[in-house]
Amino acid sequence: MKPAPFSYVRPSTLDEALAVLAADPHAKVLAGGQSLVPLLSMRLAQPSTLVDINGLSELAYVRTDENGVRIGALARHVDVEADVDAWRVQPLLRQALRLVAHPTIRNRGTTLGSVVHADAAAEMPAVVSLLGAQVLVASTDGRRTIDAADLFIGPLECAVGTHELALELQVPALGRRTGSAVDEVARRHGDYALCGVAAVVSVGGSGAIETVRASYLSVSLTPLVLDLSEAFVDGSASDANLEAAAEIATAGVDPETDIHATADYRRHLAGVLTRRVVRDAYTRAVAPDPEGAR
Ligand SMILES: Cc1cc2nc3c(=O)[nH]c(=O)nc-3n(C[C@H](O)[C@H](O)[C@H](O)COP(=O)(O)OP(=O)(O)OC[C@H]3O[C@@H](n4cnc5c(N)ncnc54)[C@H](O)[C@@H]3O)c2cc1C
Repeated sequence: MKPAPFSYVRPSTLDEALAVLAADPHAKVLAGGQSLVPLLSMRLAQPSTLVDINGLSELAYVRTDENGVRIGALARHVDVEADVDAWRVQPLLRQALRLVAHPTIRNRGTTLGSVVHADAAAEMPAVVSLLGAQVLVASTDGRRTIDAADLFIGPLECAVGTHELALELQVPALGRRTGSAVDEVARRHGDYALCGVAAVVSVGGSGAIETVRASYLSVSLTPLVLDLSEAFVDGSASDANLEAAAEIATAGVDPETDIHATADYRRHLAGVLTRRVVRDAYTRAVAPDPEGAR
């Protein structure tokens, strides 16, 4: 099948891009094209205008300070994954991006595009939800910031309006004495995961666990974040506590059966992966990586 007819514009300024988006409510932004182009080819998306933002090179950046990482709309997955400063301040970005598709797709696909695409089977929406990131968007009306909690409103549906361009993803730094980890199960390397879990564990000065939060992909219609802290009241990462966390996870997820896996299998994976990533995140919280990433 071929895409339905559409107009194509490649603006050279942000104002020009915003003007096109304001003028055509059925326009769509084209970033890396790694999700949109397949949708066009299957006619699941039929925009009247494609606004190719690849000429806006000022949006191709990854900027890091002690507060966090700011990722411009044209930063490719590979740019974020390879950025050492970003890794030191927020290691979960690199940990998760390594699981996104294949290197060729990461060379082209943008991290912010993945967030706006809002696929509950994708890694970045889960990471953004877990970390409480924000997205800065622009339109001819001005700029606004959307919190992660308000971002994902349905399957493949995000709060960025059709007249808006997402400019920047703002990811907070990982806190002190905090570790992160992510893992997933996919049928083949690089496939979308049957289930994936990212976790962030914070410990006190004595090394006792204080908070445990985890984010789940492919087990709900939008990214799901669960607070697992109640499983660790004695502060230890004992097998019994990890099992209790896994039980919270299996009860909390709401997977569906499809051609790739049954709901029961995905629920089982949520428990197994919860134990694994919480243990790994705890290990990193108490023994930070000597190269700098927490
Ligand atoms: C074979 C294959 C396997 C893949 N596997 C995975 C995987 O395992 N995990 C995973 O997370 N992803 C996977 N992907 C998707 C990939 O990560 C994409 O790069 C990502 O989903 C979208 O980024 P993009 O820049 O390509 O966006 P595009 O495809 O250009 O756009 C996607 C959507 O977001 C909108 N959009 C993009 N940028 C903006 C913006 N700045 N402002 C407003 N709207 C915007 C577009 O209008 C469109 O609706 C896979 C893709 C392929 C082809």
